[in-house]
Amino acid sequence: MTQTARTMQKVFHFDSDPAAYTADAAVLCCFDERIRGAVQKFLRRRAILRPDMVIVAGGAKTLASPRNHFEQDFILEQIRMSIKLHATKRVLLMSHSDCATYGGLAAFGGDAEREMRHHYNELNRAAALVKASFPSVEVECYFVTFAGVFRADGEQGSVAAD
Ligand SMILES: [Zn+2]
Repeated sequence: MTQTARTMQKVFHFDSDPAAYTADAAVLCCFDERIRGAVQKFLRRRAILRPDMVIVAGGAKTLASPRNHFEQDFILEQIRMSIKLHATKRVLLMSHSDCATYGGLAAFGGDAEREMRHHYNELNRAAALVKASFPSVEVECYFVTFAGVFRADGEQGSVAAD
């Protein structure tokens, strides 16, 4: 028995495709489990079948309103790695309603419209940073609610900012 075989024990069998791939997009979104299903279905609907998922508390907030420079640099580095390792040409930035990192919907006095306007600005600030850092990639912004996904960067189906 090898050393590895002695220290590791297979506890689950699952066949994965080992072939190298090009990522359809790098996707930055919050780890909030409540939006996971919507995000996964939305990506599939958009034919983003092989995303490099960057899942962290707050999603796009880590770029728009980071708690510290480390956080922002770390996330930019993740995007850089997706571009470098998986030839990513598209970056999707996401945030969502009632996100605890913003203090939830309560931080907006329970006003979903106000929350949406705030996130529109957050997402676009994050997008500006990504575009400035990686001029060759396409950047898209999305706001996820408990009723669906809104485009938030002035493209079709956008949420209006005031
Ligand atoms: Zn969240």
